[in-house]
Amino acid sequence: MPEGEADRMLVSRIEEGTVVDHIPDWRANTVSRVLRLDKLARMQADVSVVILQNVASRHLGRKDIIKIDRWHVDEKDADILCLVFPTITVNYIDEGKVSKYEPQVPDTIEGRIRCPELNCISNTEREPVTPRFSTLKKESLLQCRYCDALLAFASVPEYVRT
Ligand SMILES: [Zn+2]
Repeated sequence: MPEGEADRMLVSRIEEGTVVDHIPDWRANTVSRVLRLDKLARMQADVSVVILQNVASRHLGRKDIIKIDRWHVDEKDADILCLVFPTITVNYIDEGKVSKYEPQVPDTIEGRIRCPELNCISNTEREPVTPRFSTLKKESLLQCRYCDALLAFASVPEYVRT
């Protein structure tokens, strides 16, 4: 990368899309997994993704940032992301205007995360039911609505359905 290019990359604005900011340093790959950004490639969507890692941050010391040009991250995916990374902030950009979305720990999560219990009815190969979890906020746990299996917020990235 030529000199000066890196600075320009940090400051360049996108007109339409999403900026996920205040990601803990070097964790952008996990974020990209939780947000299922790989599906963008499968959709052959006309989007660009810029991942900045280990950027200086006033609040966190160091942080990662993900900029997604021409794609709005689903709010429900952003909420799941905040289970894992409570510091994250999400900005949606429409025609150059920024609106902040404050991700919130959801009460229930449907369809996006697999149950860790292999024998759960939501994991059966034939006619599986949609996985459903309740959040136990104080304990930082998800609880399967079918089999009561528990999943720590921190383990969520391993169980995101792709
Ligand atoms: Zn289950």
